[in-house]
Amino acid sequence: MSKAPSELHHLAEIETIEKLKSQLKDLAHFEILGHSEEGSLQLPVYKISFGSTDPKAPVLGFIGGVHGLERIGSQVCLALLSSLSHLILWDKNTQKNLENLRVFFIPTVNPIGILKRRRSNPNGVDIMRNAPVEAEGKIPFLLGGHRISSRLPWFRGLNPQMEAETRFLVEGVKSEIANSPAAVTVDFHSGFGWQDQIWFPYARTREPLPDLPYLHAFFSLMENTYPHHFYKIETQAYLTHGDVWDYLYDDHRQCRPGKGIYLPFCLEMGSWNWVKKNPLQLLNWEGPFNPIKYHRQKRILRRHNTLFDFLIRAVSSYQGWTDLSEEEKLKHESRGRSIWYEEKK
Ligand SMILES: [Zn+2]
Repeated sequence: MSKAPSELHHLAEIETIEKLKSQLKDLAHFEILGHSEEGSLQLPVYKISFGSTDPKAPVLGFIGGVHGLERIGSQVCLALLSSLSHLILWDKNTQKNLENLRVFFIPTVNPIGILKRRRSNPNGVDIMRNAPVEAEGKIPFLLGGHRISSRLPWFRGLNPQMEAETRFLVEGVKSEIANSPAAVTVDFHSGFGWQDQIWFPYARTREPLPDLPYLHAFFSLMENTYPHHFYKIETQAYLTHGDVWDYLYDDHRQCRPGKGIYLPFCLEMGSWNWVKKNPLQLLNWEGPFNPIKYHRQKRILRRHNTLFDFLIRAVSSYQGWTDLSEEEKLKHESRGRSIWYEEKK
């Protein structure tokens, strides 16, 4: 017998968001970008925004749950959302910052994927391979994105339009950053690597992104301020078609040439370490992608608080990495090339 729809509608992550909605009242703006649907099942994709509503404000965004199976990404995003929801109640610095800064969250991009422990959306499409972007060079077979079958992972989809969940994400981000002088987003993933990695565009090519000077200036601030941080910063480890952040980055540059800088990052949490410490979790379907033990999960949920703090400061005070003289731009361009591109060859 099939379950009643009401039972299937239960998703802890969405309940957390709805609880915050009733607590925060007008301190944050809650919007449903659309519904993810599969048969009679329907789940909302929420966007939650704090702070300035001025289109020209700097913007910081956090995204989770693009790959449903990587549930920890959604949970980290919700942990940060919950912290900000408390800070806004009592911390004068946060309240002051948010007068000029906007912070938004899309914590459950693929809610049915999260519910059903699937990487893909209900149509079997991988949202991170679904944007209209073609990669150049040697693309890894299947992993780089393919149109063979929705039964295989990393399926790009067959429709010329993007999938509903991809569109919700794209429109949700665009509406926040369109006229912003400086925007940064972080999309949380897990399932690849020994170390927490911050990946920046491009995923479609090994060529440097045009905003390399600003990117290098941004991470120089981070390296100088937090020299003991544990992130490995680079482009995605492998090339892929259809990367939604490549798409949003290029789209933003085309729509606003020369104005407004947008840096989209993916935080790929190094889940191989969780598996190494607890190999038995490989027997669990979610094991390769999530910290299964309670103490480890708690550790991951607090692990990115320093990054969060840095991002709030760096985006509020964006002139520190965007107001560059021609000479500084050349210096950052050259250092960025040498660290991230030339040493790799
Ligand atoms: Zn992922």
